[in-house]
Amino acid sequence: MTVWIGTSWKMNKTLSEATEWAGGLAEFLAGRQLGEVQPFVIPPATAIAAVAQTLREEPRVLVGAQNAHWEDAGAWTGEVSVPQVADAGARIVEIGHSERREHFGETDETVRAKVAATLAHGLVPLLCIGEPADVKDAGGSTAHVLEQAARALEGLEAEQLGRVLIAYEPIWAIGEHGRPAGVAELEEPFAALGGAYGHRVAGLLYGGSVNLDNAAQLLGIAHVDGLFVGRTAWRLEGYLRLLEIAVQHATARP
Ligand code: PEP
Repeated sequence: MTVWIGTSWKMNKTLSEATEWAGGLAEFLAGRQLGEVQPFVIPPATAIAAVAQTLREEPRVLVGAQNAHWEDAGAWTGEVSVPQVADAGARIVEIGHSERREHFGETDETVRAKVAATLAHGLVPLLCIGEPADVKDAGGSTAHVLEQAARALEGLEAEQLGRVLIAYEPIWAIGEHGRPAGVAELEEPFAALGGAYGHRVAGLLYGGSVNLDNAAQLLGIAHVDGLFVGRTAWRLEGYLRLLEIAVQHATARP
């Protein structure tokens, strides 16, 4: 089973910072066995092409986009389409991150349209779902994420679903104000997501305050197929260490 280790840089890194990170990754990977570990990196739109170009000799690393519109082209000022990000070198599209839902009006409906457009163009949708703190406190985490996933994936055929990645990212656990989730807090939502989608999607990932101390434990949770990481992976050394942890995890699995 593939172990996914990915990072989104959010609105960070200049072109030179982005190419330096990608060049360092290519150097690290040269001649190195990754086994079943699948790396991916999601730069800001301005750096997709440069990162893809820097990693051209390292096709094992998938490059992605943080967002793409559901239409292919047209009067959508400020947006980029799936064909455009694909043209720049993206093979994954991140969809429905909680920051986009909160600040940019993403709804379950736009998320669903973006998932469909991404699949139609042969790219991998990385669907982000996660509940806010008040929902968690009221005991509603699992119901909330199952509902978000169901709405985003409604109507997909089995083959299409098989190309989708889902990242469970509890809102209370992500970013500067997030607190790392304990393993016990994640077991129930992952059991439910695993039951509903485990063998039907390309992978179920966890994201939210992943760091070098908790990564191995998080990878050990049942139904977790990988990690989607922000801050810890923005420094190349952090990302490389996460790859090493994942390789170790994949090798040690029964
Ligand atoms: C995120 O915001 O999606 C995320 C996973 O960030 P971090 O790892 O920094 O909590």
